[in-house]
Amino acid sequence: MTEKTRRFPLPLSSVANKAHGEKKGLSQQKTVMPQTATRNAATNSSLATSRPIRKELGAVPVKAARQIESSSSTMVSHAVRKAMVERVASQGVKDAKVLKALENVPRHLFLEPALASQAYIDASLPIGHHQTISQPYIVARMIEVLRDNMQGGTLERVLEIGTGCGYQAAVLSQVAKDVYSIERIKALHELAKSNLRPLRIPNIRLHYGDGMLGFPQIAPFDGIILAAAGLEVPKDLLEQMAIGGRLVAPVGSSSQVLQLIERKSRHEWVTTNLENCHFVPLRPGTIA
Ligand code: SAH
Repeated sequence: MTEKTRRFPLPLSSVANKAHGEKKGLSQQKTVMPQTATRNAATNSSLATSRPIRKELGAVPVKAARQIESSSSTMVSHAVRKAMVERVASQGVKDAKVLKALENVPRHLFLEPALASQAYIDASLPIGHHQTISQPYIVARMIEVLRDNMQGGTLERVLEIGTGCGYQAAVLSQVAKDVYSIERIKALHELAKSNLRPLRIPNIRLHYGDGMLGFPQIAPFDGIILAAAGLEVPKDLLEQMAIGGRLVAPVGSSSQVLQLIERKSRHEWVTTNLENCHFVPLRPGTIA
């Protein structure tokens, strides 16, 4: 893959109607899903008052927003997303290519309309089935760590465990040649498919299955990302890393740490603890 930033073949304006067309009454709507992520979102949004992202979105009256030409709404959404990227950068993510990828992916299209106005606050948010879309900061951080390899950031084949709504896969598609993503909940696998379809990203392959088993038919991977936390990293995944490959995973239960595992040789893996984090649990098997 060239260093030239990939662009989606479709401009956001051609797919943004999904979010904008259904935003009616958004500001009055209350999130009622009793998930931790919702509480996170509420906390983070009040913390984020130094940068009034939500106000920016709310400042466009819904009716007017629907009348604005799609190019203008694209610009609004892009400006808000840029502010989100600046915040992620101020939290310590330095890799310009990762920040650009974050800027390119319209996160609001991965959320249900009632939550789309919160898409650009730095929080995890519910996507149904007791799962969450990851916080933009942690998405960027994990990909940055993956890219900090001996190949100058080049990633040929990357595996993601836990597709969820497909957001992180979309960000990964901007920095890796081929992205494979596995989800164990059929309904979320389908959701990711329908979220990604309008973006027409050619280098993502979605699979329904137990990601703890990895994807032996496609291995080895030079990067593996886990979007859910296990008590340890499954052995199958370690075996499916290329020599020189990197794996980033949250590990733990109530207290979790983000781990980087580097495969140094056929029989040698080196683990580094990076920072505390909070992810949904990694679970075995599938849910049809
Ligand atoms: N990558 C997502 C985050 C999804 S949350 C994003 O872009 O925001 C984590 C996901 O991991 C959940 O959808 C959950 O169902 C999934 N998951 C948990 N254990 C899994 C397993 N063994 N195999 C595949 N997916 C798994």
